Amino acid sequence: MSVIHTIGDYEQYVGKEVVRRIEAKARPLHDMHVLHMNSTYYGGGVSQILSSLTLLTNSLGIETGWRVIHGPPDFFSVTKKFHNALQGAEINLSGRKKEIYEDVIHENAVRNHIDHDMVFVHDPQPLPLITHYRKKCPWVWRCHLDLTAPNREVWDYLVPFIERYDAVILSCGEYLRDLRRPQVFFTPGIDPFSIVNRELSESAIDERLEHYGIPTDLPLVVQVSRFDRWKDPLGVIRAFEKARKEEECTLVLVGNVATDDPEGAEVYRSLLTHRNERIIVKSVQDGALVNALQRRAAVVLQKSLREGFGLTVSEAMWKGAAVIGGNVGGIRHQIEDGESGFLVSSVDEAAERIVRLLRDPDLAEQLGRAARERVRERFLFTRTVEQYLDLIAAFEP
Ligand code: UDP
Repeated sequence: MSVIHTIGDYEQYVGKEVVRRIEAKARPLHDMHVLHMNSTYYGGGVSQILSSLTLLTNSLGIETGWRVIHGPPDFFSVTKKFHNALQGAEINLSGRKKEIYEDVIHENAVRNHIDHDMVFVHDPQPLPLITHYRKKCPWVWRCHLDLTAPNREVWDYLVPFIERYDAVILSCGEYLRDLRRPQVFFTPGIDPFSIVNRELSESAIDERLEHYGIPTDLPLVVQVSRFDRWKDPLGVIRAFEKARKEEECTLVLVGNVATDDPEGAEVYRSLLTHRNERIIVKSVQDGALVNALQRRAAVVLQKSLREGFGLTVSEAMWKGAAVIGGNVGGIRHQIEDGESGFLVSSVDEAAERIVRLLRDPDLAEQLGRAARERVRERFLFTRTVEQYLDLIAAFEP
């Protein structure tokens, strides 16, 4: 049964002062009508953030809606190519791709009547929506991608859409671009009450692992991610195989496929050939399994090659896990190397850290303790809520 949390519930994690501050910031915004738009209700970090954010801001008295744009498979195939290009991949930016993209967004605009006080549009998929409305309120584009080195051609094509917005939110300072619009930075945060993060008893963890037939006789090395090449699942398998020559362990790769990501199924299939008794690959839609794995793992990996933020990192850190993250994008902001986890730049480094953590459970525990504290201080979702409230207030006349 779904429990809708109110801000007071978060007091146990963030203290009375933060709760009061958020309530005070929300008060002048009561009865405002705010809209978030993105391209998937399920799968990936944006949908996780929006499902918590839209419920909590409603309970704070701000009428907040969430709409998801729709499109045929070729639309999502184009937008995934844009997503990849914005994270640095090559693309053949044909007129046909632009036409599919712009036409489907036009159709979505015809169907979506917007009469709000503020609109947030998430990521590149719905970006051109703004061109189809008579703009009566502030519109903000929230980009969740790793913009360290975007493909120039796609970026230049999208800039005229981006510059129609009143402001742009990025996940990290390094993603700052040359734009004629204000840019602000919010690192996202995790919701301690979501299915993925809420407390689980040892018996509930056992039950979930058993349900999926995950062996627990050896220490678990885990990566939880959408099936996406940027998450480097093959690099994880190679690091695991190297580590396993020195320390016995089991690898669990668990992922899902977001509805706006048509490459997921193919990436998943490509991993199946690597499966064996000690390499478990599962495509499931079960937040409780993610939760159980992050809690039970001896080592959690998030060996991404690009990562806008990487909620899975904070999720695992919050559970006191020893996390090895790729030294990229938003992961660098979460893990302080050697203090609250490890940052790695190669398969060999990942393998070496896995072995080190398996051999030294005290070190793993120490990193995990620091990790939980770091998330409590910086990456809980109440901060995200507060940043949104500040931004809405900044636009209030
Ligand atoms: N997730 C999940 N099940 C899975 C894989 C991922 O529930 O099998 C969740 C994960 O716990 C996290 C989100 O999906 O909350 C992924 O967000 P992240 O920022 O790590 O990556 P993104 O998918 O947005 O690139």
